[in-house]
Amino acid sequence: ATTATTYVYDFAEGHKGLVDLLGGKGANLAEMTRLGLPVPPGFTITTEACRAYLRTGAEPDTLHAQVSAHLDALERRMGRRLGQGDDPLLVSVRSGAKFSMPGMMDTVLNIGLTDASVTALARQAGDERFAWDSYRRLIQMFGRTVLGIEGDAFEDLIDDARRAAGAATDVELTADQLRALVERFKDVVRVRTGRGFPQDPREQLDLAVRAVFDSWNGDRARLYRRQERIPHDLGTAVSVVAMVFGNLGPDSGTGVAFTRDPATGHQGVYGDYLANAQGEDVVAGIRNTVPLADLATADPACYAQLLRTMEVLENHYRDLCDIEFTIERGTLWILQTRVGKRTAAAAFRIAVQLLDQGLIDEREALRRVSGGQLARLMFPRFATEAAGDVAGERLATGIGASPGAAVGAAVFDSATAVARAAAGERVILVRRETNPDDLDGMLAAQGILTARGGKTSHAAVVARGMGTTCVCGAEELRVDPAARTLTTADGTVVAEGEVISIDGTTGAVHRGEVPVVPSAVVEYFEGTAPADTDDLVAAVDRLMTCADRVRRLDVRANADTADDAARARRFGAAGIGLCRTEHMFLGERRTLVERLILAESDDEREAALAALLPLQRDDFTDLFAAMDGLPVTVRLLDPPLHEFLPDLTDLSVRVALAHDVHDARLLTAVRRLHERNPMLGLRGVRLGLLVPGLFTMQVRAIAEAAARRGAAGGAPRPEIMIPLVGTVQELEIVREEAERVVAEVERDHGTRLDIPLGTMIELPRAALTAGQIAESADFFSFGTNDLTQTVWGFSRDDVEASFFGAYLEKGIFGVSPFETIDADGVGALVTTAIAAGRAARPGLKLGVCGEHGGDPESVHFFHAAGLDYVSCSPFRIPIARLEAGRAAA
Ligand code: PEP
Ligand code: MG
Repeated sequence: ATTATTYVYDFAEGHKGLVDLLGGKGANLAEMTRLGLPVPPGFTITTEACRAYLRTGAEPDTLHAQVSAHLDALERRMGRRLGQGDDPLLVSVRSGAKFSMPGMMDTVLNIGLTDASVTALARQAGDERFAWDSYRRLIQMFGRTVLGIEGDAFEDLIDDARRAAGAATDVELTADQLRALVERFKDVVRVRTGRGFPQDPREQLDLAVRAVFDSWNGDRARLYRRQERIPHDLGTAVSVVAMVFGNLGPDSGTGVAFTRDPATGHQGVYGDYLANAQGEDVVAGIRNTVPLADLATADPACYAQLLRTMEVLENHYRDLCDIEFTIERGTLWILQTRVGKRTAAAAFRIAVQLLDQGLIDEREALRRVSGGQLARLMFPRFATEAAGDVAGERLATGIGASPGAAVGAAVFDSATAVARAAAGERVILVRRETNPDDLDGMLAAQGILTARGGKTSHAAVVARGMGTTCVCGAEELRVDPAARTLTTADGTVVAEGEVISIDGTTGAVHRGEVPVVPSAVVEYFEGTAPADTDDLVAAVDRLMTCADRVRRLDVRANADTADDAARARRFGAAGIGLCRTEHMFLGERRTLVERLILAESDDEREAALAALLPLQRDDFTDLFAAMDGLPVTVRLLDPPLHEFLPDLTDLSVRVALAHDVHDARLLTAVRRLHERNPMLGLRGVRLGLLVPGLFTMQVRAIAEAAARRGAAGGAPRPEIMIPLVGTVQELEIVREEAERVVAEVERDHGTRLDIPLGTMIELPRAALTAGQIAESADFFSFGTNDLTQTVWGFSRDDVEASFFGAYLEKGIFGVSPFETIDADGVGALVTTAIAAGRAARPGLKLGVCGEHGGDPESVHFFHAAGLDYVSCSPFRIPIARLEAGRAAA
């Protein structure tokens, strides 16, 4: 006999290691149950059941019976039956995937309430109003999520009832008014679905479970997963939990607690509490909460128990936990916990605190932070009081919910945010409160401002997850989405399109554009602020030291000027991995290049090159000085020559209008050099082979600069790199000439120069023939920009602006392959070339200098592939160092 798959686990059967199967919520409920914490009983239906359902459109055969068995056990344990008897059991049906997707999937509360059980509940609770309000909530939630009726159909009826009763909030509606509302809700259900609201509790349960499965593929959930790079095929688990009620009167309530401040990482009591409310009220930010610490006076016993629970959880998970809890008439229940989302600053502080507490080791501490978080700490922030007067009028102060400094035009709905952002404008999305439907706009905005809701409101949680600046709960502001205005306490009106500035750290909201200053973390990297500036900088310093100690990859810089080189060095670069010499030919020097291109005789050309030589020599001398003692990879000229000439059309017009002789000559050259597809044309090594003397001049300038620096007591370590090589023959020709020139310079200067000569691997043919190429190369540097372009056949200058949006939308890739290395395609060529190159020449030095060198995920790939170094722009060097450390940790 075959054993049937287990699709349902009781909380007492699971544990946190089963997160793939039970989802984060289910696994943690099970874990807390094992820890003996006060978790309401229940069971979890696995992600495997969800996947089977999504695949086939039907629940797996044995699921019904397995749910029945667990429901029976739950009923026996509670001594109550689902939706039946004098004391009916009610349950909540909660979504919960492996990765937290706050508010993106569905949850239904109060399952089990029917026309019959609502009266039993009223009698049992001794509270008519509570029972009818619970039934009202069930029909509303069930109607929306299970039956697909739009929420306004119910909201409008609530508004009507409130107006008729002269009530300001729902809480003021009486039991009779709520009973009447329930009748109207049931009418809505009948009219919209053609049948009455289901009166069979088990049917309610089964339909709710199915709706949660379906919500995995809802628009919101799909968009969120794309954004967060969560795979689409995981499915969600569904937890069925015995209901406890936070809305049974003033001695009941619900709240969210954090074991540390998720915004700063500092220790203390953080969270929000809302008396006489159900959990969803807090997260939705509909009513304003009070600080958790207020619970100490309202219910000291529950408060003390909660603090003990928080300590147990933090020591158990060895991390910041957030907790959702409910107090039902003086009894504390924990409904959820998870390792909490946090800001970048909090992540660094907490990792170091836990390290100091001995709860985690250095490698674990490194894994707790990320390069993306470090990047956020390097963003500039608003000029503060200390930095002088802050320009712009202060409109309000809300809660700093997700740090950063954001400036943009105020917009009042998601669609406008998306439209204006797509047109290139920076926008701040201003809402009374956000809900999951605002996700598009939140993604498009520089920052988010809400008038209501605390640090745990939807806006705050989602913004922190995305790293977007957010100020929430700016209660002084009146937000009017219809008029598209916000109004301050003193009557100042800000209309749509006006620029505002929000500070996600302090919560300040200013009119106009507030100037920004560099971050303290950048100042620390620059060496202008000491490592003990504050506890955040100290935490960064500590973890960077750990990363540097464990990482195997070197980090070099892509830098073309002495200034950039010096900064890169301060940021921890171990040399230059790519100096793009074409950047040295711009500006005034363009005319010298023009002379080279227009040369009609050897003499003219040599004169043009001779004029360029001293300039290049000075460039390299400065660069070698800035990187004294460290390797500097100089790449010989790469782009097509016409890039140094005027535009063909412009010039044609000019020549047609004014018959200038010089322009006419120029036009002939531009026409001669014009290419349909310059990225695949006469560039890189091809140019070096076709324009006599060009590479020779550059090699001479490098060698002479090195000789000069050496004579001055420096330790120059130049490396010469040849771009766009497709076959070893190209490299051999360049190498022979380069060796001749270097020998000549050695002779002239009476010195020995040791200048490795290597190549970029940036064409598929180069990667595939890397074994042959390695015979002639001292090192390889993967040019993953061009390699991506040529492997995919994507024009690197065009596609991101043209169709990548659609590709991302369709989920063809989750991120541009120009940003994160395409491990399966481009990456496979890289690993092939590494193996062939090292086989042909053991000790071959290997690096990467495409943009991927500074991308966190790609750094992990290059670590695993066995490169010696990555090279990236100066500002990404700390990020690459940290990620290289994490990859090795
Ligand atoms: C590359 O192609 O990856 C590279 C580093 O060279 P460039 O970007 O200058 O073409
Ligand atoms: Mg290239």
